[in-house]
Amino acid sequence: MRASMSYPAAEDNVVPEKVVIVGSGPAGWAAAIYTARANLEPLVFEGAVTEENRQDGTLPLGQLNLTTEVENYPGFPAGDLSHYLRGALDEENAWLADMHQKEGCSGPELMNLMRKQAKNFGTRIITDDIEDVDFSDRPFKLKSLGGEEVEAEAVIIATGARANYLGLESENKYKNHGVSACAVCDGALPRFRNKPLVVVGGGDSAVEEADYLSKFASQVYMIHRRDELRASKIMAERAMKNEKIDILWNTEVGEVLGTESDGVTGVRLTSTVGEPDREVEAGGMFVAIGHTPNTAFLEGKIDMTEKKYLKWTVPFRTNTSVEGVFAAGDVADDYYRQAITAAGTGCMSALDAERWLAAQGLH
Ligand code: NAP
Repeated sequence: MRASMSYPAAEDNVVPEKVVIVGSGPAGWAAAIYTARANLEPLVFEGAVTEENRQDGTLPLGQLNLTTEVENYPGFPAGDLSHYLRGALDEENAWLADMHQKEGCSGPELMNLMRKQAKNFGTRIITDDIEDVDFSDRPFKLKSLGGEEVEAEAVIIATGARANYLGLESENKYKNHGVSACAVCDGALPRFRNKPLVVVGGGDSAVEEADYLSKFASQVYMIHRRDELRASKIMAERAMKNEKIDILWNTEVGEVLGTESDGVTGVRLTSTVGEPDREVEAGGMFVAIGHTPNTAFLEGKIDMTEKKYLKWTVPFRTNTSVEGVFAAGDVADDYYRQAITAAGTGCMSALDAERWLAAQGLH
């Protein structure tokens, strides 16, 4: 646990922000758009640009900024968006329009459009991480990595979750070139069609990913380190019954194989029970070994689940265990984990915060 924070004394006369939003994925920007339009003048801490965040996959703009094509976010059908992007984005991000080669919308394009939309309505943005909070008293206090200290009447946490990866150097090399942690996001891309694919993991997510990918792939190999799936019975049965899914028991991925031009071409498997190594041909590797929510800075300050996701405490509301603190997106959702659901709960958190502030006579 961090040492306790020191904040400006009350006589320093700090005027608290009405709403501070922490995080800059679809949940954070949706919350910003709604609170800005409600005249709450939101302040967003979008995350810091640091090497540590780059390596952890927690840079500003979230998980979507790390993906390629986004084909399931409503409102962006296939079509050349470059002209629109050139007009919609800030000059500093207009290069995205020039990079836009394929049809439809990419993750970075979508995130930059959301950020711009929030800015258009007056959202203020600080490119830094919040590294400590004091929720013991209101107004709440938040401290950034760079030393910025702010007070807030209401806080929306939208810091998301990072996909767990195996941690192999070769895996990192082929991220976005055949290595993915989201079959629903990437599985239907042409590069994966009619090719053998590998899914790593033995839980419900791995089965779900394998099942989904079996619609596109010629064959799906599930790589599981034990001789029994962790997945629920019904999901395990689904994997066993699917003729396109082949479970390779007691195996781990030792190395992702590939080339500069083709990306992933296969994996080298090691045995957990002493069998010889072997290679399997594959056009892609999907890692489904769990997610880690970005909640370390909230440890001990707010109720979390066993897996450290923030707890929503009221059904179909975004309230947390701390009155005035709301949670949106993957940081509180280990089940749906989609851009559209994150944006949806972001909107909900903004409306919840606005109504709560009004009830307190603060808005
Ligand atoms: P999970 O249940 O924690 O399973 C993670 C899997 O990854 C386990 O099989 C684990 O192996 C394996 N694994 C972990 N670290 C690994 C490593 N370093 N190398 C190789 N394998 C590794 O996670 P999840 O599947 O994402 O599910 C999370 C939660 O969401 C669960 O409660 C699940 O029921 C739920 N969920 C439900 C559905 C559904 O009902 N449709 C769909 C998705 C998720 P071991 O088994 O050996 O530990």
